[in-house]
Amino acid sequence: MLKKIILLGLSLLILLPASIAQVCGTTGNEVMERLQQNKQSLYNTPIIPRSIRYLPVKFHIVSKTDGSGGVPEAQVFDMLCTVNADFSAMNLQFYIKDGDFNYLANSAVYDLILDSDHPDATVNPTIIRNIMRANKDNDALNIWMVKDIILDADNTGNILGFYSNADDWVVMLNNEVRGSSITLSHELGHFFSLPHPFNGWESDPYDAEKHGNPVQTNSPGFNPFQIIPTEKMDGSNCEVAGDRICDTPPDYNFAGISCSWSEEIQDPTGTIVNPEEKLTMGYFPCSKDDYFFTDMQQQLMIQDAASSNRNYLAAAPDLVTTTLQESTTLVFPSSNEVLTYYQNLELEWTAIAGATQYMIEVDRLPTFVFQKQAFFVKDANFLELNNLEPGKKYYWRVKPYNNYSTCQPFTSALAFTTGDSPTAVSYTHLTLPTKRIV
Ligand SMILES: [Zn+2]
Repeated sequence: MLKKIILLGLSLLILLPASIAQVCGTTGNEVMERLQQNKQSLYNTPIIPRSIRYLPVKFHIVSKTDGSGGVPEAQVFDMLCTVNADFSAMNLQFYIKDGDFNYLANSAVYDLILDSDHPDATVNPTIIRNIMRANKDNDALNIWMVKDIILDADNTGNILGFYSNADDWVVMLNNEVRGSSITLSHELGHFFSLPHPFNGWESDPYDAEKHGNPVQTNSPGFNPFQIIPTEKMDGSNCEVAGDRICDTPPDYNFAGISCSWSEEIQDPTGTIVNPEEKLTMGYFPCSKDDYFFTDMQQQLMIQDAASSNRNYLAAAPDLVTTTLQESTTLVFPSSNEVLTYYQNLELEWTAIAGATQYMIEVDRLPTFVFQKQAFFVKDANFLELNNLEPGKKYYWRVKPYNNYSTCQPFTSALAFTTGDSPTAVSYTHLTLPTKRIV
């Protein structure tokens, strides 16, 4: 057994060399037309948001056809918390539409192979897209969370996510669905019309032998109708070159292995290029909290959100937008309580102002990765459990939230032990907690 574990460890090391590029599947072509429209509207009628715009999101948790493998909901809550922090400066905030996830159990979508030439492709990509379209919520921003993303049989990069302009949705790799990742903020940048700062170099990153130093006048990539000039450091062609956004300096898809770029590459005029490594829309590996959108990127996203294209993202009139300030306290069973029964056990915790829902996790181990059961309770601060075993120790914890505010962590876990009697005998009813409605 030990040998097997060691072998597994080795194979993981081999599978994860630093040279496998972590990339995004969106190209500038997808967003350039809307970017131009947003630039025009920014020059003509710039919008200064005076209040927060709440945007409904439908999160699609995709699993295998047998129902296994879907991303845990708690990770979606953490990711939502991160994007709301990243977009707060723009007064754009996201919330879970109707407070519900869409669960789709379909292995073809879970493995998402959108090129029929790929050796592992078993379902025609058109059929896969039609399944997704049938599940799309037309009154929400749709975010799919899947196990793998293969857009092109020849692509060797590890695609973390992409935005599709044709379907106007975002697809995320399950591994990137977590609070410590900026991938969703990056993809939402595309959703709101931002290209990569290295637009024109997406499929052909800078290589001195191929592209020269000083760098060639035009970037290697081009959209079907227009050559993309190589962006210069002096800003003289920034309206038409690269990402066409003038406060993002040139980047020829240097990416690199650190957040600090020090190589001396010259732009077409011979000036040393100094890219901005910390752009959310770039590929440099930096600390999560250092990433940012430039002023103009922010203004363009505000223009996009305000455009008629985005009218379908209307907030529910009864949306609760309270930001939760405190966690809940676990009331019953109390810490390490030994119960006499194991059925009809009613967990209870304190109600929190602004919390409309609670997520409850129960497991045999305090790590909550063993036999975890997750429950969601709306507008109540208790939950009846009927599937526990007699004479066993359990751990439980609770996370309060509402459709918008999902940043409060789980409480610390408490333990209790079930008894052998199926249900509580009559006198124990006196000790049961009183139900309280939030
Ligand atoms: Zn991207």
